[in-house]
Formats: sequence, structure tokens, C-alpha cells
Amino acid sequence: MKAIFWDVDTQLDFLYPAGALYVPGAERIVSSIARLNHYAAANGMHVVSDVDAHAEDDPEFLHWPPHCVAGTAGQQKPQSTLLDHRAVVPFRLGEFPIDKVQQLILEKPTLSCFADPNLPSLLQALNPDKYVLYGVVTEICVRHAALGLLETGKRVELVTDAVRHLNEQDRDRFYNEFTARGGKLTTADEVCSTR
Ligand SMILES: [Zn+2]
Repeated sequence: MKAIFWDVDTQLDFLYPAGALYVPGAERIVSSIARLNHYAAANGMHVVSDVDAHAEDDPEFLHWPPHCVAGTAGQQKPQSTLLDHRAVVPFRLGEFPIDKVQQLILEKPTLSCFADPNLPSLLQALNPDKYVLYGVVTEICVRHAALGLLETGKRVELVTDAVRHLNEQDRDRFYNEFTARGGKLTTADEVCSTR
């Protein structure tokens, strides 16, 4: 079964206590994120890493502390989550490579990766049987990705020990919503042992 591994917002500003919008406990999932990304590459599957890339005066900063400003250290992903052959896809309609890359890093200034104008053609080009999803924040950007991917009609698996939440009740509400729509909850061990 051809899977696309989908890694949401795993960036320094979210993952570590010194980050601008630290998600408590998120540093503990970094090794699982790295494991999943490298597992995908080792098995010839693409990783899509969507990442926040904000302008300094981004309207989102009316609601959230400034974070992941393009060009800052905090906007970067941990080295361990990066694959050797990768390409950054800016948030404007354009060409993107697929054949020679293992990891597509999709920049977005929005909560939902589905605002990206390249996404429809990217999903069509990748055309997987299923998506394996993880990252931060569970009930916010991961939720947007999860529900949007479910709407494509493909199987979506959420790796519960490779996500991190800000609000536990909101996370649980999302898990209920996700499974009610046909999403499946899984673990990194299960993902990396069943293929
Ligand atoms: Zn943001």
C-alpha cells in the first residue's frame, strides 16, 4: 500500500521550550517524527512536511504570539526530521519536483495546509492509497490536515505518539471527530512494523 507520510509544523518554535510558541512536551515527539520520516524514505515513500512560514506582520499574530517568521531560526525544522533529498515549495502556484525528492516542504502562512494553491495538483501527482499523519498542534493544524485529507476519500492514519496538543479536551474532541469520519488512530511502532 502506497503511503504518504505527512509531518505538520514540526519546527523549532513549536517543539522546544525556547521556541516562540512552545507546545508543552513536544520535544518528546521529535525522535518519533524523525523515525517516521526516515522510515518513509527508506521504504521509498514521500514525506510531505507542511511548515508555518509567516511574514513579520502576519495577521495571524493578532491571535497568536509571533512565531515561525520566514528566515528565522525558529522557523526551521530540527535537522533530524530532514531528509537528504528535499525541496521547499513556496506558498504560490508553481512547479514542484516529485521524482527526485524524498521530502516536500510546503510553506504556508495559514492554519490549514489546504489553503496552499499547489495542494490539489500535489495530491493528484502523489496519488497514495493512504496518509500517515503526525506533528503539532494536534487539535489545530494537524486537525485541519487530517479532516482535509479524509475528504479526499483516502485512508488517513494519525500517529498518536507523534502528535502533541495544547488543550487535552480539544484534542479528545478532535480524536472523536476524526474517528467518526473514518480516520484511524495508530502508533509509530505499528506504522514502522506493519510494512
Ligand atoms: Zn502560524
